[in-house]
Amino acid sequence: MTAVIMLGPPGVGKGTQAAKLAKRLGVPAISTGQIFRANIAEQTELGQLADGYISRGEFVPDSVTIPMVAARLQEEDVREHGFVLDGFPRNLEQALALDELLTELGMPVDVALEFSASRERLLERLANRAQHESRADDTPEVFLRRLKVYYELTEPLSKYYEDHGVLGVVDASGSAEEVGDNMYEALRKRNIYI
Ligand code: AMP
Repeated sequence: MTAVIMLGPPGVGKGTQAAKLAKRLGVPAISTGQIFRANIAEQTELGQLADGYISRGEFVPDSVTIPMVAARLQEEDVREHGFVLDGFPRNLEQALALDELLTELGMPVDVALEFSASRERLLERLANRAQHESRADDTPEVFLRRLKVYYELTEPLSKYYEDHGVLGVVDASGSAEEVGDNMYEALRKRNIYI
C-alpha cells in the first residue's frame, strides 16, 4: 500500500510522472484536473459547474472538489493498493480534509513529492503542450493566472508536508526521463524502492 501526493506548478510535468509512477507502484493515478475535464467533455452536472472556474484558471470550489476526491478515495482499488494523487490538495483546507479522510481510511501519506522548475521552463513547457493538446486553460493569459494561484495557495503546502516529515523534493527542470530519475531518487530517500 503506497500513498503518494504530487505537488507542483502547472506545466511542471507532474501528470506524466504521476502516470508513470502509478504504473510502477500498481496503484491508481488520480488526477482531479482529468476528472474535471472528463466531466466537462461528457457535459455532466459536475462538468458544467467546473467549466467556468477552470477556463478562468481559478480553483473549483472546495465544496465540490473535496467530496469528489473523498468519493474516489473510498473506492476499492484505492483501499487495496493506495494512490498517486495529482492535483490535490491545492490549498490548506484541502490538505486538512485529505488528512482527515486518510486517517479514517487508515492510510497515511507516505510521501508528498514537490516538483519544481523555473518560471521560464514552465512557460516553455506550456507553449509546447498548447501545441499538442488543446486545453482551454493553456492560453498564456489563463496559464499565468493558474501560476499565480499556485504560488499563493498551493506552494505553501510544501511547508505543511515538510512539517509532517513526508516532503520529497524533485528537480523537474530536465527531460521527462531525468525528472523520473529524480523522482525515484526522492522516493528512495523516503524508503520507497521501485
Ligand atoms: P490540472 O489538470 O491539475 O492542471 O487542473 C486543471 C484545473 O482544474 C485547475 O486549474 C483548476 O481549475 C481545476 N482543479 C484541479 N484540481 C483542483 C483542486 N484540487 N482544487 C480546485 N480546483 C482544481
